[in-house]
Amino acid sequence: MSEAKSLTAPLEPGATIGILGGGQLGRMLAEAAIDLGLKTHIYSDERDAPAFQIADEATYGRYDDEKALEAFARTCAVVTFEFENVPTATAEFLSRLVPMAPSPRALQIAQDRFLEKSFVAGLGIATAAFRDVANEEDARAAFRTLGAAAILKTRRLGYDGKGQQKVRSEDEAARAFVQFGAVPAILEDFVDFSYEASVVAARGRDGAFAAYDPPKNEHENHILRRSTVPSPLQNEKAAEAIVIARRIAEALDYVGVLGVELFVGADGTLTVNEIAPRVHNSGHWTIEACATSQFAQHLRAVAGWPLDDPSRHSDAVMENIIGDEVTSWMGMTEPPEGLHLYGKGEPRPGRKMAHITRTKPRS
Ligand code: AMP
Repeated sequence: MSEAKSLTAPLEPGATIGILGGGQLGRMLAEAAIDLGLKTHIYSDERDAPAFQIADEATYGRYDDEKALEAFARTCAVVTFEFENVPTATAEFLSRLVPMAPSPRALQIAQDRFLEKSFVAGLGIATAAFRDVANEEDARAAFRTLGAAAILKTRRLGYDGKGQQKVRSEDEAARAFVQFGAVPAILEDFVDFSYEASVVAARGRDGAFAAYDPPKNEHENHILRRSTVPSPLQNEKAAEAIVIARRIAEALDYVGVLGVELFVGADGTLTVNEIAPRVHNSGHWTIEACATSQFAQHLRAVAGWPLDDPSRHSDAVMENIIGDEVTSWMGMTEPPEGLHLYGKGEPRPGRKMAHITRTKPRS
């Protein structure tokens, strides 16, 4: 098996960055690339991926189509991804043809909740107590050792609350495991938090690290509704959250932007919920409110360029526009500054269709 390719020099202006995945994150990366004079080539298995509309090149192909992946790799100076469920085999295959950032290892850890929590806990960083669940008996035994309320989560392919269920007894834990198709899972303690926050940060190829101000995140029906800066996470607590993200990024030898989702307890205790090895929905406000957006910063990191200034010049509230809410923006009485429509077709329930960021001068 040949070695993973590494980037030997910073990308020249005009070089092409390949992006696996063509959703809104890929689209906003492609938009940011325009101002940096970089080109993008989007690879997606969705025929009308929103990012195809913006990118310089587009490939519609399956993630196991080696011929199509090879042809894609030949056009790219470096490849990144915009969703964490890229099959590991695809990432490994591509990384032998073209430099890839973040690494397939970061992807592999982040896409499996057991590996992810074990990795974070192994660094001495607090997570909810958790147990691996491979069968119904494990689910019962795990419930007995955890608290009175727990959450069963599939190890893989969970997002926006999919593949997870709160359980209050051994029976419920075993039933949830079966309901999800008896696939590998974890059971974790229900964390009694006061609010949720995240650190969105970048690490460059030279090890430089730049974090954004941590937003407070509010969810509805398990989907992010709103991110607000400034958040109640301030001063030493914000610094502590940023140190957590930095330690994770360094331990992964991470290159690019990552999101670290945190629970904040009433006493300020920080518990890591998950790592997103990509630009993050809770960082969309950085487009309007920061010197450099998370999208530009990710491209800079991946390109081997120096990171830019993440400082925040405005207060901001970012709201997701979900499902058929997308039709209501036209009736807004205020000018829709900060409105980003993703160019998606059908507004299915729960589908992120757009977001809006409202800013005010920094308080
Ligand atoms: P996740 O898919 O792990 O990001 O979880 C989605 C949402 O479910 C989180 O943002 C929390 O609101 C909630 N949640 C997940 N895990 C826990 C937990 N261990 N305790 C309490 N709430 C949780």
